[in-house]
Amino acid sequence: MARRAAAAHPAKARSEELIRAVKGTRDLLPPATALWNRVEEAARRVFHAYHYREIRTPVLEPTELFARGVGQETDIVRKEMYTFEDRDGSSLTLRPEATAPVIRAYLEHRLDQQPGIQKLFYIGPMFRRERPQKGRYRQFHQIGAEAIGSSSPAVDAEIIELLVEVLSRAGLEGFSLVLNSVGCPRCRPSYLERLRAELRGKAASLCADCRRRAETNPLRVLDCKVPEDQPAIASLPSLLDHLCSECREHFAAVRRMLAQRAIAYELAPRLVRGLDYYMRTTFEVVHGALGAQNSVAGGGRYDGLAEALGAKIAAPGIGFSIGEDRLVLALEEAGHAPSSCAPDLFIAAVGEAALEHAASLARRLRATGAAVELSFEPRLKRSLEIANRLGVGRVLIVGEEEIASGSYTLRDMQTGEQRSLCEEALWRLLAGGN
Ligand SMILES: [Zn+2]
Ligand SMILES: [Zn+2]
Repeated sequence: MARRAAAAHPAKARSEELIRAVKGTRDLLPPATALWNRVEEAARRVFHAYHYREIRTPVLEPTELFARGVGQETDIVRKEMYTFEDRDGSSLTLRPEATAPVIRAYLEHRLDQQPGIQKLFYIGPMFRRERPQKGRYRQFHQIGAEAIGSSSPAVDAEIIELLVEVLSRAGLEGFSLVLNSVGCPRCRPSYLERLRAELRGKAASLCADCRRRAETNPLRVLDCKVPEDQPAIASLPSLLDHLCSECREHFAAVRRMLAQRAIAYELAPRLVRGLDYYMRTTFEVVHGALGAQNSVAGGGRYDGLAEALGAKIAAPGIGFSIGEDRLVLALEEAGHAPSSCAPDLFIAAVGEAALEHAASLARRLRATGAAVELSFEPRLKRSLEIANRLGVGRVLIVGEEEIASGSYTLRDMQTGEQRSLCEEALWRLLAGGN
């Protein structure tokens, strides 16, 4: 009987051991979360202005969605997914990215029947079981957008403009855009044939991963990061020289429209996405502060994805995703981190009797939208110590005397100066006056 009880409460049996977060995941704590909120608010404002509307898909999806939508041969599907068997035997996966889920939802809810193209954005956690390293987490966050229903190069130009706008308004400086076209199912196969042939002659100077990719997914060899492979990779033929006339025209139009918008970019003929469904326009935003893994956002066109998911309708689309963890890291390194999370006003009640009065005063003042902290400590000296450690600028003292006279004592914590003022004056003060 005793043994069964212990088994039912395994935590009790090892109560001396502190439970920690899962390896590779992390808690985001205040005051750092203030910067996350600022980034997300800036993004939401820009999405609103470009008339992108929010979509929220589940973090759990059928494994098949990513096997088909992301590609069996990608590192993500081969070794990085959190996949498990559900109790009914079905295979589920924590989403490693959101484009395939968004397209799944688009098809499932027949959003193609809505007027115009669908412009959707998402903000949320993704999951990949990567090797833990600085700035990489197994639960990470993406801010992304998808424009579905058109293959026009004008949509490509606008979504790149949107990405640049979101990053700028979030406060990121000194980033650059790199651009490529990865062709289409008409022109890519013959290029891949040439690439395979070239790679056969270079197997000796390539890493083990590349030797495997050379047969299964030769395009991926182009973005191998192994330094020893670079001379061989640099000598491979460029996809840009092998585009069909439609892809060439499409890419020229995108470049013309970016120039019209005065959006600077660099051509990067070796830029391919890790995901199989990308075609034509492919882009990435890099930022110096992030070191070797300097990509802060990436995206591209995925006209074939809907068909890969079994759709009978065409759903050409293009999208991007921003690595929010990396964006926040870059902003922190540029000095955007909030220095404190002190409230606008700290109310210190003197004595138990004043606490109740202070509580209703706090409630009224909070209606201004100001952050008002109420000390639950009846001793003034102790309250002032707490306020000091919080870095509070102003403390309002509420005692018997103040309650009787209807005018409170406001203490400037920097100078120690005190003045008395009525509730109306407090309202004005918190509303931004003085
Ligand atoms: Zn083509
Ligand atoms: Zn390699």
